[in-house]
Amino acid sequence: MQDKMRKILDKNREKIQYGNLPTYIPELNKAKKDALGIYISMLDGTEVGAGDYEYKFTIQSISKVITLLIALEDRGPEYVFGKVGMEPTGDAFNSMMKLEIVRPSKPFNPMINAGAIAVTSMIKGNTQAERIKRIMDFFKLVTQNPDLRINESVYMSEKQTGDRNRAMAYFMKDVGIIETDVEESLDLYFKQCSIEVTCKDIARIGLFLSNDGKLQSTGEQLISPTYSRMAKAFMVTCGMYNASGEFAINVGIPAKSGVGGGIMAVAPGKMGIGVLGPSLDEKGNSIAGREVLKDFSDEFNLSIF
Ligand code: GLN
Repeated sequence: MQDKMRKILDKNREKIQYGNLPTYIPELNKAKKDALGIYISMLDGTEVGAGDYEYKFTIQSISKVITLLIALEDRGPEYVFGKVGMEPTGDAFNSMMKLEIVRPSKPFNPMINAGAIAVTSMIKGNTQAERIKRIMDFFKLVTQNPDLRINESVYMSEKQTGDRNRAMAYFMKDVGIIETDVEESLDLYFKQCSIEVTCKDIARIGLFLSNDGKLQSTGEQLISPTYSRMAKAFMVTCGMYNASGEFAINVGIPAKSGVGGGIMAVAPGKMGIGVLGPSLDEKGNSIAGREVLKDFSDEFNLSIF
């Protein structure tokens, strides 16, 4: 297995030269552009990694899947989907265009920034500290990594330059999509995006979803299988933003990308997969990561279609 994974990485290493590191969050521009790694975590407990699977990067938008699950548990689907839709946008992940066009206003889905910020604002907790602790504890449990932490410089960088996210959040407060404190919700969102992970951590998030919301280590049903199914459906339709259709056709498994260069993917009932390649295409998806996943899915016949 590891041999095959190494071969897939070697084949796709030349793709690293294409694309760019993000500049709109200045701290992300400092990533190692030629890092390339893959890790898989299987339902039978087998785990295998190849390449830079221990390289640390920030989870970014991959976190949106987890906060959706927490919000669904906290508020139930009626409330969550009363405020955030279920449809792909065809627009960039940080687009604000459709927010005002659609009446009544509703972000299209929880995977784009507007929808994710709204979802994060729904997470319960008496204090801000309690909310961030709930998010971190959930991540630590699912990744089985008690050492997960927030990368403070990325967090500060996001907070300082997140004016587009801030603008969307204030708009959503105005139209009643966000019902809590805007700055606190944004702060929570910037923090969840700045959690530092490796391919191994995100592979284990994938494993959790491939196991329908049950912890593989203890067998505990942490979240409802229905919510896990919803999350995977969103990953298929919106997880790679306005490249989700192409990814579904070429790779065929639920996946979620982040501008830190990671992609978390799920082979339902089989395994979670984490890949990393920090250089992004114009849609914000890892170029090398996407190609590695395509070859991996082909090699092991993982497409769900
Ligand atoms: N923190 C990033 C942002 O808000 C997340 C975007 C992403 O990973 N696609 O823009």
